[in-house]
Amino acid sequence: QFPFGRRLPCDIYWHGVSFHDNDIFSGQVNKFPGMTEMVRKITLSRAVRTMQDLFPLEYNFYPRSWILPEEFPLFVDEVRMMKDSDPSWKPTFIVKPDGGCQGDGIYLIKDPSDVRLTGSSQSRPAVVQEYICKPLLVDKLKFDIRLYVLLKSLEPLEIYIAKDGLSRFCTEPYQEPTLKNLHQVFMHLTNYSLNIHSGNFIHSDNVNTGSKRTFSSILCRLSSRGADVKKLWSDIISLVIKTIIALTPELKVYYQSDIPAGKPGPTCFQILGFDILLMKNLKPMLLEVNANPSMRIEHEQELSPGVFENVPSPVDEEVKVAVIRDTLRLVDPQKKKRKDVQQHIESCKNKVDTRCNYFLCYRCQTLEHVSEANEELLDAGPADRRECDSTQSPEAGLPSLCLKQVFPKYAKQFNYLRLVDRVAALFIRFLGVKGTTKLGPTGFRTFIRNCKLSNSNFSMASVDILYIDITRRWNNMGIDHKESGMCLQAFVEAFFCLAQKKYKSLPLHEQVASLIDFCEYHLAALDEKRLVCGRG
Ligand code: ADP
Repeated sequence: QFPFGRRLPCDIYWHGVSFHDNDIFSGQVNKFPGMTEMVRKITLSRAVRTMQDLFPLEYNFYPRSWILPEEFPLFVDEVRMMKDSDPSWKPTFIVKPDGGCQGDGIYLIKDPSDVRLTGSSQSRPAVVQEYICKPLLVDKLKFDIRLYVLLKSLEPLEIYIAKDGLSRFCTEPYQEPTLKNLHQVFMHLTNYSLNIHSGNFIHSDNVNTGSKRTFSSILCRLSSRGADVKKLWSDIISLVIKTIIALTPELKVYYQSDIPAGKPGPTCFQILGFDILLMKNLKPMLLEVNANPSMRIEHEQELSPGVFENVPSPVDEEVKVAVIRDTLRLVDPQKKKRKDVQQHIESCKNKVDTRCNYFLCYRCQTLEHVSEANEELLDAGPADRRECDSTQSPEAGLPSLCLKQVFPKYAKQFNYLRLVDRVAALFIRFLGVKGTTKLGPTGFRTFIRNCKLSNSNFSMASVDILYIDITRRWNNMGIDHKESGMCLQAFVEAFFCLAQKKYKSLPLHEQVASLIDFCEYHLAALDEKRLVCGRG
């Protein structure tokens, strides 16, 4: 541990809180710049909503949400309209303060007029969300799932999901929300930090009983009741990939600002905690994403009044040790070196016929067998592993990976959703000065001009008005006043506006896709022209 920083460069930096814990110019950091900001309740809701506008069906795993205080009038209006169209609809809403955690400041309401907008600590910016009234119950209790996800790389996108997670249980039997039970946190909120204070909390001494269990133990139970557990897993994988696809555009803006391309800097990876609620019909719903999930494998036990001791928690240990171990295996810098050696061997082998005798190659002779043993291990089942000779590879004798790659493995199924990523690439191209996250008026004008978007119906004066209108509105939302200019979300809104103008009758995602193609085409032509001129 280096609480005051470390001078010598490391292979891997394991930061406690965020990317900015230190100045780093090489190696790998276990945090992405901007991740903490991205997964705050308001930012996550905004990012998912942009995707819901484009792909409403694909993104129906996130409850309908409004941002307070600015969308309060919209919230009131929409709820009134929905009630008018369906008088039998008796909704409940959950209000969650932005940046809150561990259930802090959360409350349930039946009517929009019950939102506490002024005069209390709960009046700070928040998200109000439709409350999922019919969760799946086990032993009559509500529970949620904490799944660990490794974002190994942003470009190219690489995602791994842990095969097992935690199920965190409420400590009062669940009843659908009524005015009488709305305030009963032990019935409605699954947070460990809250329920631990209930007299009913049971510390588990194995993985399938008590108030915190492994997710696999729940799956076993569901499977024995005849539930389609395979489909459930595939829905969860799809939820995770889609959520990360919603987060990546803004993450890329942060990334290029902190680690500009072409300058020395580290690469990043990050373990995320996904909180998921299963509905009665087994549909998984995303509650939130944690950038800094707790990796504690102990809990406090009160030995005698006021005397506490840390004792091991077998459930946490079972799940979390595997996640950390596999993350380190996947980002192991030695593995990359071994891969490089493997590539070297391959290239030498290919040259055997052309007179390069690879047996004479010193590097290959000494390292070839290490590299091969390692690659085999990644695919080996448990039986194969234990037979491995520990002198062969540093990974010999380790259990098989609990982290499973889901992207790029399933990229083909999800790549069509990555439209905002392409909009972000246009945004980043026109940012101009390296290290910024906001687009100035000149950058926006250059974008319009280079992509040939201005014409007699859309003058440069209208371009300026569009820029000013949208930028001012986003800056008034009080998101980030450190820099002036147009943030990515504002640019995305302007882009959608332009797309709707240009391709009137299509559905929104087709309008946007067509405009992206149009812009990319003109920019490629421009690059080509510049290249030819340069050569000339
Ligand atoms: P926090 O970061 O404070 O834990 P969460 O968004 O995870 O905030 O919400 C806390 C708990 O409230 C969740 O663990 C879950 O039990 C419950 N909860 C949150 N959102 C909903 C919802 N839309 N419907 C039903 N329960 C919810």
